[in-house]
Amino acid sequence: MKYIGAHVSASGGVENAPLNAHRIGATAFALFTKNQKQWSAPPLTDQSIEKFKNYCKEFDFKPFQVLPHDSYLINLGHPQPEGLAKSRLAFVDEMQRCQQLGLDRLNFHPGSHLKEISEEDSLKRIAESINIALSETEGVTAVLENTAGQGTNLGYRFEHLKQIIDWVDDKSRVGVCIDTCHAFTSGYDIRTRDGFEETFRQFDAIIGFKYLKGLHLNDSKKDLATRVDRHDSLGVGFIGIDLFSFIMADPRFNNMPLILETPVEEKWPEEIQMLKAMAR
Ligand SMILES: [Zn+2]
Ligand SMILES: [Zn+2]
Repeated sequence: MKYIGAHVSASGGVENAPLNAHRIGATAFALFTKNQKQWSAPPLTDQSIEKFKNYCKEFDFKPFQVLPHDSYLINLGHPQPEGLAKSRLAFVDEMQRCQQLGLDRLNFHPGSHLKEISEEDSLKRIAESINIALSETEGVTAVLENTAGQGTNLGYRFEHLKQIIDWVDDKSRVGVCIDTCHAFTSGYDIRTRDGFEETFRQFDAIIGFKYLKGLHLNDSKKDLATRVDRHDSLGVGFIGIDLFSFIMADPRFNNMPLILETPVEEKWPEEIQMLKAMAR
C-alpha cells in the first residue's frame, strides 16, 4: 500500500496537522512539532497531544504514515562546542515531542561542517549526536535525509548516510529518508527508468532498503548535479513526471510516508490524486 501526503501546516497547534492532511486527501503527512525557525518552544500541552492522537485515529493516520521534520537551525555535526551542544539539546527535545505524540520517526538533515572541520569529523559528530538522542528517548527512530549538498551540508552521498549509520550504536532506531530533488541535484540521475533502477541499486548496496523510512517527493527547479536545493511541483521541473510513476509502481516504497514538499500548496490535492492514480 502506498501512503501519500504533504508537509502540512501545524500552525495553531500540532493537532491541526492531521486535520489539514485529511482535508487534502492525504494518507500520510509531515509536520513540524514546533516553530522550525526558533530554537525553543513551549512544551506540547496535554490537550494538544490528546487532540492530535484523536484526529490521527479519526482520519486513520498510523505512526508509520507520519514523518515529523526537525528545525532547520539544528546542526548535529557542528564544528563548535557551543553550537553542537545547543543542537543536541534541541534535537533531544524534538525526539521527545515525537515520543509524546506517539510517533515513531523524526526526519532531519544530517549536518554541516561549515568548512571548520573535515567531512569525516562532522559525520562522527552527527552519529554521536544520534547516539545521545537515542539514549534519552524511546521508540522514535532518527531518520537521516539525503541532501542536495548545498554549501557545506553533508549527506549528499549515500556513503555519508552509511558512514553515520555504521557509527550509530542502536541500528534498530536509525533510518533514512530519500528526497528526490536532493538526490537529483546532488548528482543521482533518476529521470529515466535506467537511472532510477541504478540509483536505487546503489542505495540498496550501500545503505539497504531496510533502513528506508520515507520519501520526499519533489521535482527540482535546478538541473542535475548543481547541488542546489530548490523544490518544484511534480512534472514541471528538471526531473519530470516519469520518476514519480516508477516510484508509485514499485513495492519497495510501500508502507512508509511518501511526502510532497512541493512549493505550490494549492496543487497538493491534485498532486496527491495523480500519485494515487499512478499507484493503482
Ligand atoms: Zn526534503
Ligand atoms: Zn530540500
